[in-house]
Amino acid sequence: MIRRSFPALAAAFTTAAAAFLAGVLVAQQSHDLGFKDTPILPGQPWHVHDSDRPHPRVITPGATPGAAPSDATILFNGRDLSRWAQKGSGPDSGKAVAPKWKVMDGYFEAAPGSGDLFTRDKFGDCQLHVEWQEPTTVRGTSQDRGNSGVYLMSRYEIQVLDAWQNPTYADGQAGAIYGQWPPLVNPARRPGAWNTYDIVFEAPKFEGSTLQEPAYFTVFYNGVLVHNRKTSMGPTIYRDVAHYQPHEPREPLLLQDHDHPVRFRNIWIRPLGQYDRPEK
Ligand code: MG
Repeated sequence: MIRRSFPALAAAFTTAAAAFLAGVLVAQQSHDLGFKDTPILPGQPWHVHDSDRPHPRVITPGATPGAAPSDATILFNGRDLSRWAQKGSGPDSGKAVAPKWKVMDGYFEAAPGSGDLFTRDKFGDCQLHVEWQEPTTVRGTSQDRGNSGVYLMSRYEIQVLDAWQNPTYADGQAGAIYGQWPPLVNPARRPGAWNTYDIVFEAPKFEGSTLQEPAYFTVFYNGVLVHNRKTSMGPTIYRDVAHYQPHEPREPLLLQDHDHPVRFRNIWIRPLGQYDRPEK
């Protein structure tokens, strides 16, 4: 019979425990970055927690709420309208000319009667951030009070209007998919305060002259959800039912001149992106 002293037994136990713990650690570490022995996700080429699944690109978020993330295109930086144009008139008819809208201290203001403002670049599916302000001096009623509009692809309007104690038809108030859907709620601020729109827009898809997929709007108005992937019936139209007409997959973003001095600032846009694109 082999007799071991207590210290020898304790040492043997400690060695065995250490080996066991090391084994557990190795097993854990090998699974830290995913698995290949888990089920395949339905409709996807990936295992659950797949270790080979591409990681999303790393971007830097805005430093403060509403600030542009690092992968956004800045459409207005507070200083100039170099990314925007207007339709020329007279000898400049048919040309895109420098905007007449006025840039002031960190914002710009619609120049009533000068025409719409549109981006020189074109965009399709996108996330858009826009801040806008209604004139402090209240003039007019209903649609004739602080009217402008954010037109995705120069066609599909989210209404900009003074919605503070200003009765108008519901599908024409601020936040409406104009002429189609009122906002789910009215989170308007008083005239003179800045409002925000955060818009997720899915462009319509055409095959030849046939509509394959309509446009969809998801809209946060002052941080409040007012449209949840709502279908657009077609290009904005007044007193009629919208119908789609084929157009390019990318078109300029447009801000409406409706003869009112509405102000804008901090405008940025970014493509929606797609899942499982390898990190660059
Ligand atoms: Mg409008």
